[in-house]
Amino acid sequence: MARAVISMGSNLGDRAESLKKAAAALDRLPKCRVVRTSSFYETEPIGVSDEQPDYINCVAEIETELSPHALLGACLGIEAALGRERIYDKCPRVIDLDVILYEGYTELGEELTVPHYAMRERAFVLLPLSELYPDLSVYGNDYLEDLEKLGDQRLRKADI
Ligand code: ATP
Ligand code: CA
Ligand code: CA
Repeated sequence: MARAVISMGSNLGDRAESLKKAAAALDRLPKCRVVRTSSFYETEPIGVSDEQPDYINCVAEIETELSPHALLGACLGIEAALGRERIYDKCPRVIDLDVILYEGYTELGEELTVPHYAMRERAFVLLPLSELYPDLSVYGNDYLEDLEKLGDQRLRKADI
C-alpha cells in the first residue's frame, strides 16, 4: 500500500459539489481509499491569460495499490466522468485532479511528472497540504520554505 496526494480544483459549475464527487469517486476506485481531505479554499486562478471564475481547491491523501500511472489514468477517468472538457490550455474546468505526490516514487515524464512540476509554486496546493502535514515534510520531502515564499498568493478558506 502506498500513500499519495491528489490535488483537486474546480472553477466551473457547482465547484464544491464537484470536489466532493471527485473525492467520493477516488474512494470508490478499486485498490484505493481516501484517508483524509483538507478544507476547501477559494483561490484566484494562477497562470491564466483570460478572466476566469475563482477556483475551489483542496487536497486528498489516499492509500492505494494502483501504480502511479494507473492512478493518473483513474484521475483522468474521473475528470471525464464529471464532464471535464479541454477546450484550451488552462481553460475553466468542472474538475482537475493532479497527482501531487506518490510515496517513494519520482518520475520526470511528459505523461506523468511526480512530484507535480508546479507544486512548490502553488499555495493552493501547499496550504491545504499543510493541514495534513503541518511541518510540510511529506514522504521525505520538505516544502515548508516553499510555502513561506508564497505569502502573496491570496487564498481564503471557503465556508463549505
Ligand atoms: P497543470 O499541470 O499546470 O496543473 P492542467 O492541470 O490544467 O495544468 P491538464 O490539461 O489537466 O493540465 O493535464 C495535462 C496533462 O498533464 C495530463 O494529460 C497528464 O498526462 C499530464 N501530467 C503530467 N504529470 C501529471 C501529474 N502529476 N498529475 C496530473 N497530470 C499530469
Ligand atoms: Ca492542474
Ligand atoms: Ca491536471
